[in-house]
Amino acid sequence: MKNFTRRDFLKTSSATTLALGAAGNAWGLTRLEPISDTLKQEYPYRAWEDIYRKEYAFDTVGFAAHCVNCHGNCAFEIKVKDGIVMREEQIAQYPQVADNIPDTNPRGCQKGAIHSQAMYDDDRIRYPMKRAGKRGEGKWQRVSWDQAADEIAEKILDIHEQYGPGKILSHSGTGVMSSMRLASGYRFASLLGGVLEDAITDVGDGQSGQTLATGDALQNVTSDAWFDADYIINSFHNPSVTRIPDAHYMWEAKYNGARIVSVSPDYNPTAIHSDLWLNIKPGADPFMYMSMIQVILEEKLWDEAFVKEQTDLVLLVRDDNRKLLRQSDLQADGKQDIFYFWDTKSKKIVEASGSMGSEDKTLALNGKDPALEGSYTVKDLQGNEIKLQPSFIHMKTEAMKYPPEKTQDDTGINANVVREEARKFAKAKKAFIISGFASAKVLNGIYLQWAQVMMCAITGHMGERGGYASPFSQLGFETTFVLAFPDGKMPRFECGGLGEYMHGQKIIEARQHFNNEKLKARVGFDLDEMEEIIHHSIKTKQMPVYEGLVAGILTADNKFVRNKGPKYRERLLEVFKELFVCVDVRMTSTAQWADYVLPAASHYEAWDVRTSPLHRHANLFTAPSKPIGEAKPDWLIMSLITKKMQEKAIARKMTAFQDGPFLRDYTKIHDEFTMGGMLTDDKAVTQFLVDNSPQFGPGSFEKGIKKGFLVHQSSPIMPAAKVQADKPIHSWMQQTEDKLPYPTLSGRLTFYCDHELYQKLDSSVPTARFNAGPEASDYPYTFYTPHTRWGIHTTWRANKFMMRQQRGEPFVYVSPKMAKTKGITDGGQVRVFNAIGEFFAQAKITPGIRDNQVMMEHAWENYQFKGNKGLNQVVATLIQPLETVGNWGHLKFAPFRWNPNSLSNESGVDIEALTDEQALEQAVARNDKPAQVKG
Ligand code: SF4
Repeated sequence: MKNFTRRDFLKTSSATTLALGAAGNAWGLTRLEPISDTLKQEYPYRAWEDIYRKEYAFDTVGFAAHCVNCHGNCAFEIKVKDGIVMREEQIAQYPQVADNIPDTNPRGCQKGAIHSQAMYDDDRIRYPMKRAGKRGEGKWQRVSWDQAADEIAEKILDIHEQYGPGKILSHSGTGVMSSMRLASGYRFASLLGGVLEDAITDVGDGQSGQTLATGDALQNVTSDAWFDADYIINSFHNPSVTRIPDAHYMWEAKYNGARIVSVSPDYNPTAIHSDLWLNIKPGADPFMYMSMIQVILEEKLWDEAFVKEQTDLVLLVRDDNRKLLRQSDLQADGKQDIFYFWDTKSKKIVEASGSMGSEDKTLALNGKDPALEGSYTVKDLQGNEIKLQPSFIHMKTEAMKYPPEKTQDDTGINANVVREEARKFAKAKKAFIISGFASAKVLNGIYLQWAQVMMCAITGHMGERGGYASPFSQLGFETTFVLAFPDGKMPRFECGGLGEYMHGQKIIEARQHFNNEKLKARVGFDLDEMEEIIHHSIKTKQMPVYEGLVAGILTADNKFVRNKGPKYRERLLEVFKELFVCVDVRMTSTAQWADYVLPAASHYEAWDVRTSPLHRHANLFTAPSKPIGEAKPDWLIMSLITKKMQEKAIARKMTAFQDGPFLRDYTKIHDEFTMGGMLTDDKAVTQFLVDNSPQFGPGSFEKGIKKGFLVHQSSPIMPAAKVQADKPIHSWMQQTEDKLPYPTLSGRLTFYCDHELYQKLDSSVPTARFNAGPEASDYPYTFYTPHTRWGIHTTWRANKFMMRQQRGEPFVYVSPKMAKTKGITDGGQVRVFNAIGEFFAQAKITPGIRDNQVMMEHAWENYQFKGNKGLNQVVATLIQPLETVGNWGHLKFAPFRWNPNSLSNESGVDIEALTDEQALEQAVARNDKPAQVKG
């Protein structure tokens, strides 16, 4: 067959045209001209050809990433024309770290890639605004920066003089993740003496079981460490949706032969690609892992040498009171934090080195052989005999209660499958359990994570052999903290989840929703016991929660979407009775209720640096475009407020005051904020952050801004990982290789806790508990709210490009069976409800979820719902008592590591089908406030 060339086509066209002309002007085609190659001759009307090219033209190029809570941190090149960002492209220039592992290029996702459009959306705040009507009424007055900062500063000082220090919540939410933005809000809070909540537990991301076991949940791996694993369990982890730039390492590992297992109650996009999907019943996860541990122990698949060297399962426990044997039991001046094991070689008890009280800071056994079995006897101070057993026996006794055949009805996972996967995990060369943050948002998350870390530990999967990994580490934050806490001055750090629980009085909805008897039967405590434990923890100062707040200055914290229950916003607005300021990029469902909204510069409009937990590159933001409207970088906003405060404090003749351990002085607050005028703008701050970083050093800033990123070759702030230039980052290498102690009470991986509350709740060793769920309420269906595919939390959630990918309005997933039972149609309206609240949404029928499950991706803005009623209207929540302990070794309040979490998935709901008209009518009738979106 002849191939047609362009020349043939032109010849044919000309011939055809001539023939048609000769045929008496048939079909009126008299005006047709022969087509020749227009590119080779003069042709007057060619300007249109340039439109497409002009769309791609730009004046300037700069670099940025996205300062959102995705942990992607992907370097983009930003192209700007006439002051408008035209497009962004992944720069894809990161160097390869190890020869045998692919590089991390090109990092990015479809969400970040629409920011050049989204930054000009209607919800962008462009000018400082002051409330002109009632709170939330949507009436605003545009004011100058000078007026806004002047009035806010005046009010802050009034509050200080009227109520005393520490009455302002000056909080930065998870919308700020880059170092300049983080340092701005934190430094302001530190100099003010404001209350700053733990932003990690605020959003329910605190990996408490990981901290309990290892001492630090911020020691984690980079995603390239997944690449050469041969077995990976995804637990509440859906990287194809939530770790888009990192997911390839998992799928490349699979291509190389790794077995990928996903454990989730929904058939999510990661489960789809896995070798095995374990469709676990919601809330039953710890039972499955305890069964796997039972199999590993029963079939002797565990690593005895690792257990003896690295874990506290060797420590001796008293038979009489189940407490660890301490030096204080045996010596008059003995310490509480020195422990013992039985050495089978010398046949006597010996001090276990490496504990908090031990001077010998090593895990090395130096020829000793700790017993894991047997009974032993020592004499106490009075000469009485104390009978002892290694904690291993207690751990094993508990684990043996959970053979897979016994748990399969609870978990929905066949016993043979559990047995087979436990064997594969134990025999793997390098195995991970990768835990998503949703595992921290369930009541039994601490049990789940504790069991998971133990499963890794007893099989020797730690360090370069894998282990438990959660998605955040503090790699590269050294200088951020220097700026955040000037001269060591700190804000009043408060518990995140517990602080929000108390300020929002969430116990009221918990009491309305949960059935106390059912709750006790399901989770082991009831609401009365939970409240008593919470109050005891706060009263004894184990967990800090500050009372008497009268104002809130929030930066990038969408509190009124995230928090649970229908009355949270109302109660917080009462707390913020004197002043409520929101500093944000967008007019969020929270900013709508503020007294003042202050427009922050977005990702492409400010100098900044962002480090990443999942890869080793620090990205530079070079402010490629000017801020829209009158928006300002966070540093300049806080700087302006401190300037006004300082002027007014001097005029008021205020003096320095001792505030706990810190001397604060509002007459110098601006000087201190700007470091004596050295840090005047976001560029100077970014340069300070980079050039003073111990791993980058002077001159690095200039180098970094030429290519958009710098590479972390070491990490003083993460020494345990022993960061090396040519290897992925693995956690706990100092422990597994160099035998240095873990940051725990015993210096060992901790699987025995003898705190009285742990004893009271039968939780001294890893065990299984359910979450609350519908079983603890009088409503039939579980309500599950995983992370969204089409946004990063509430960021870009209302953007039109994201909305086009889904249903264009909030929707809930229901199974075909539930739809049939309830008369729900795909695309039809439903009301989701329980005793505390309701919301209206569209139904999407999917076979990918269970029949007793109502699922909705989280973080829709409240204003996207009919009647402004967001999805958390139906969510009652609890506090996990074990997380309130603050007086046991490493279990003490520590921001970002140890304090109670916000929990999201504990409620039961019911659902009913409505017509569109009914939904609208009911929503409007019960509308609490009109929606107001435009900034
Ligand atoms: Fe990367 Fe996050 Fe931006 Fe997506 S939103 S491109 S993951 S930084």
